[in-house]
Amino acid sequence: MVLIVGLTGGIGSGKSLVGEYFADLGAKVLDADEISRRVIERGSEGFDRVVATFGDAILRDGDIDRRALAERIFGNSAERAKLEGIIHPLVREAFESTAASLSGDDVLVYEIPLLAETGAATRFDFIITVETDLPVRTQRLKKRGLLAADIEARVRAQATPEERMSVAGYVLTNNGTPDELLREVEYVWEKILPGLQRAQN
Ligand code: ADP
Repeated sequence: MVLIVGLTGGIGSGKSLVGEYFADLGAKVLDADEISRRVIERGSEGFDRVVATFGDAILRDGDIDRRALAERIFGNSAERAKLEGIIHPLVREAFESTAASLSGDDVLVYEIPLLAETGAATRFDFIITVETDLPVRTQRLKKRGLLAADIEARVRAQATPEERMSVAGYVLTNNGTPDELLREVEYVWEKILPGLQRAQN
């Protein structure tokens, strides 16, 4: 049977890298952040609905300015709920249509940063969290150009490692080299996921 795996972890923990490794091993990988950007791209139904709801002020050069949109909903739960009411069902639809297109023993890995926070855990057959010590994450993200204050703000808004680990069936740790991480991912792919698939059949 198709196995649906949720992949979470705090900002900079290495989710995208783990996703790439799973894709190389043969999984179908979807990124919730990427989908939520795609469903409001110019020309989409989501774009029209966001503009109809929030007005032209959130546009820049004809595209939705995600920063302006974020500022508009910041600290305003009614506005946030309106935006989520547009985006979440579209993201869910994209996820479900991909899941429905799979067959046999396919594995779908869904990268979702806020898995523990949103109660989405029930949608997955298995959950993996990528955990990396905060100083290591901070250093890697700074190298990528993020500012310390922005990293701290994001970390504060996310679930704690304990909260993520309490919903996860497996913890990948990523304090070492990319090669060490790859070996851990290969272990999960070869030794953990096939057993789960057999148990489902
Ligand atoms: P996330 O998707 O969880 O935010 P990323 O996969 O984008 O995290 O990783 C954050 C940054 O750290 C990226 O620049 C990535 O290339 C780098 N990175 C991830 N794992 C390692 C590692 N084991 N060693 C060195 N750099 C890493």
